[in-house]
Amino acid sequence: MNGRILIIEDEVTIADLERDYLELSGFRVRIAARGDEGLSMALHEDVDLVILDLMLPEIDGFEICRQIREEKNIPIILVSAKKDDIDKIRGLGMGADDYITKPFSPSELVARVKAHLDRYNRLVSARVQKNEILEIRGLKIDKTARRVWVNGEETSFTTKEFDLLTFLAEHPNHVFRKEELFREIWDMESLGDIATVTVHIKKIREKIEFNSARPQYIETIWGVGYRFKM
Ligand code: CA
Repeated sequence: MNGRILIIEDEVTIADLERDYLELSGFRVRIAARGDEGLSMALHEDVDLVILDLMLPEIDGFEICRQIREEKNIPIILVSAKKDDIDKIRGLGMGADDYITKPFSPSELVARVKAHLDRYNRLVSARVQKNEILEIRGLKIDKTARRVWVNGEETSFTTKEFDLLTFLAEHPNHVFRKEELFREIWDMESLGDIATVTVHIKKIREKIEFNSARPQYIETIWGVGYRFKM
């Protein structure tokens, strides 16, 4: 199984033991020996699961767990040396997925890592399958793959055309001013102005409308802006 595991653990022998077993099972493993370092890696690097020791220098595991949870829903397995901590974890409802007390058998840890990653991957893929497709009459937009079909035929869009079309289609019957659309789709540093929006709308219409003069998807509201007709 593939998976990037972050071990946040200040006891080198335990961290190394965990890493050895996880690597034997095919996981990629990184170790952080300090709380602050581990937290930064968990938040800013690609990590699929965290094994988190509670008692750590700089920032303890409780605080790290809380801060990871604010940003990410990756599985977190807490590791504790004391029974007291486990009672505290239960009481706090701090968002950890599991906990394990030292001493533990490394194969037990590996089994739990696999179980949590399995569950997490299933959740993620279920969510992607549910949300990725927008279908409006003859128009089908796959948001995840960034592909568009018009009456069953795949049509290519530039990045901004795709973003603009998708934004409008996700807010049907809402009239947007050109200024609003420009702010929404183009970042602040972009050169250009609301005329850019007009040009992109024209190009999108050429691709999705049967007759651009009588659009069935993106309607012009004269003097205001555009509306995606539901
Ligand atoms: Ca420790």
